[in-house]
Amino acid sequence: MLREVSMEEISDGKLYGPNDMVKAGCDDCRGCSACCRGMGTSIVLDPYDMHRMAAGLGMPAAALLGESLELNVVDGIVQPNIRMAGEGEQCLFLNEAGRCRIHPYRPGICRLFPLGRVYDGEKGFQYFLQVHECKKENRTKVKVRKWMDTPDGAHYDTFIADWHYFLLKLQKKLTAENSREISMYVLQQFYLTPYGTGDFYEVFDDRLKAAKAWAENL
Ligand code: SF4
Ligand code: SF4
Repeated sequence: MLREVSMEEISDGKLYGPNDMVKAGCDDCRGCSACCRGMGTSIVLDPYDMHRMAAGLGMPAAALLGESLELNVVDGIVQPNIRMAGEGEQCLFLNEAGRCRIHPYRPGICRLFPLGRVYDGEKGFQYFLQVHECKKENRTKVKVRKWMDTPDGAHYDTFIADWHYFLLKLQKKLTAENSREISMYVLQQFYLTPYGTGDFYEVFDDRLKAAKAWAENL
């Protein structure tokens, strides 16, 4: 999700790479679940999130969409996000003890928090620390890569950048006439069609190549 904010206002003024240490450690969120509540539609899933969650829970993506996920328009393109519900507007995956029921399969945004990403506009990105977001005091230093808690980190970073820049490319092509077609294509091609049990990135790369060719004709 694109945001127009000043980095001075929201960060510690530094940019971090995957091997840098950053003050994000929050003692396993012990006693706190603040960022699992009241987040509106902001916890948006990327295709890897959907694949990881569907595989982890043993449920097809379509079933998750009818249950704990919902669809919303993000910068012109429909994408899935975690559904918040109930009095406290809390994530449906939060249990009564205030812990995440799907911790091993939680979305990338939940892993990232309180870090954010800033993209260089060409092909890469760096991380930054959102200083006003995590409620925990005395946070400890942790390596960014470890914080993300995702295997095959280098491949994951490439995927994150590829996905971001592909969505940007599609956003530039959006018109009132083609917006529905684009959203339906993205949903089917990247979220609803299962990735199987093999290498996610290999399947994703093939689909992305096909999608780029498809987008040329928009
Ligand atoms: S998926 Fe887990 S970590 Fe993410 S908002 Fe829901 S309960 Fe919190
Ligand atoms: S606000 Fe910080 S400590 Fe609280 S749940 Fe979120 S990341 Fe964990």
